[in-house]
Amino acid sequence: MNRTMSSHRPDCRRLIGILFAGLAAVLLGMACGVRTERAADLVLTNAAVYTADAQETRATAVAVRGGTIVYVGSAAGAAVQVGPVTRILDMGGRLVLPGFIDSHAHPVSAAGALFGVNLQGAGSIEAYQKAVAAFAGTHPGAPAIRGAGWSNTLFPKTGPDRALLDAMVGDIPVVLSSEDGHSVWVNSIALERAGITEKTPAPPGGVIERDPRTGRPLGTLRENAASLVRGLIPGFTQRELEQGLEAYQAMALGLGITTAHDASIEAGGDEPAAYRALEKTGRLKMRFRASLYVDPAQGPEQVRVLVAERARNKGPLFQTNTAKIFIDGVIEGVTAYLKEPYAHRPGFRGRPLWKPDALKTMCAALAGQGFQLHFHAIGDAAAAQALDAVDFAETSSGRRDQRPLLTHLQLVAPDDILRFKYLGAVALPQPYWFIKDDYYYNLQVPYLGKERADREYPMASFFAAGVPTASSSDFPVTVPPNPLEGIRAGVTRLKPGVDDPREILWPEERATLEQMIASFTRWGAYANFLESVTGSIETGKSADLIVLDRNLFEIPVADVARARVLLTLFQGRTVYRDPSFRQP
Ligand SMILES: [Zn+2]
Repeated sequence: MNRTMSSHRPDCRRLIGILFAGLAAVLLGMACGVRTERAADLVLTNAAVYTADAQETRATAVAVRGGTIVYVGSAAGAAVQVGPVTRILDMGGRLVLPGFIDSHAHPVSAAGALFGVNLQGAGSIEAYQKAVAAFAGTHPGAPAIRGAGWSNTLFPKTGPDRALLDAMVGDIPVVLSSEDGHSVWVNSIALERAGITEKTPAPPGGVIERDPRTGRPLGTLRENAASLVRGLIPGFTQRELEQGLEAYQAMALGLGITTAHDASIEAGGDEPAAYRALEKTGRLKMRFRASLYVDPAQGPEQVRVLVAERARNKGPLFQTNTAKIFIDGVIEGVTAYLKEPYAHRPGFRGRPLWKPDALKTMCAALAGQGFQLHFHAIGDAAAAQALDAVDFAETSSGRRDQRPLLTHLQLVAPDDILRFKYLGAVALPQPYWFIKDDYYYNLQVPYLGKERADREYPMASFFAAGVPTASSSDFPVTVPPNPLEGIRAGVTRLKPGVDDPREILWPEERATLEQMIASFTRWGAYANFLESVTGSIETGKSADLIVLDRNLFEIPVADVARARVLLTLFQGRTVYRDPSFRQP
């Protein structure tokens, strides 16, 4: 009682003070042409705004209120949005773009670099061996060692040998994924514990690399054969996955990525649970969409598991409305499905992971339940088979605007590019790979022949045909997944630092800077059914904005990947700021 009495007077004064402050704000707001509650929270002014909208509109100011863009235009126009509480940021003429969208990545794999051996970029067999030995040394008592990131380019066609690992770790299983995620390299005790001998047949859709004379397994297992050793290594716990996702998120925001599509997570498992836990506890600072893995070994009965998983993930920041189907493997594993035989294996075209009819039935079942389809297709025959299945599913379900996604698209027949347009399919290439690197010289030219290898990764053709084309990194295949490097590579089709025109991979397929930016923004939003939410700087959309240290339109295209993100805003909030960037 006493406390209430004694605090009565100051409360009155505070109330009067608040009323006066409010009145002053309203008057000030009226003077500025805006009522206080309608004023912007934030105005970016003196900016070079490239909106990435369909008209490629440019502007100099953007106003944001409640996380939403409320004005795009001139400084004079933005001034009308300014009220007493508006934060005004002078951009000093810097380039402002929509936040980037990575339409095919594997953020959950980031746990691998934190809790396993990370071989990415190690660059030599000796470095791989050293990393494995070092990990074993710092993890005494581990029941097994897992890891990822080795490159097929450093090994013979039959892949890395188990003896290289036995020399480092002989007493516990070692299981290491290749950087493309399509092969594993194991030591002898892993093969032994998994019961893999010269007599073991490869499972359907899998390859056990063997000594051609003795049939003895060499230590490399490709595609579905990797499932033979999966039981030897513990999966990541939900906590580990959450930590991995947070590490991915911090990296992505620093690269200006505000939306990412996780290309394959398992329904009913810890992966979707990790995303949900992060969203529930307010730890998601960007938007995720994800595809649920479809197992070719199971029939359409698995669709109900996917439906149940989808129903659990309805948060604004995490949803799983897409189903992921692998049609084939990879060129470097000789597991891609081609229209013409491999150059080094006459008569062999690779095998699809699905029988055509089973694929059609599955796709129709998924489409019937409203799932967007997402296909892994490397070979030209794989892309054709996916398009056949899309055609069937769209016809049988009677559903339009399904935006089926086809990713990788290393080889695509010109006629099939036109079918993309006809079927409403979306192309999801990885422009980072449009270069003549070790994969090209050591694997693609010998496996495909030079003529076919020189017609890898169409891009301009998709744009020319009017096909929605959304770029992506396939992280952790590409590390770091820097969209500015993807944009540079898409425009030049040259390795960084190379300017010899003979090194351009398929020069006719070079895209423009504007097309490449659109592929990481507007078309990324379209691919994810988010075009009303993000992907361009337009009134009504989420204020997902990035500020760069230089204007991409005013520098040589070779330097585009040298640009740095200074500031990343997600829903109007600063989620990344470069230490060098001081906001006034
Ligand atoms: Zn992928």
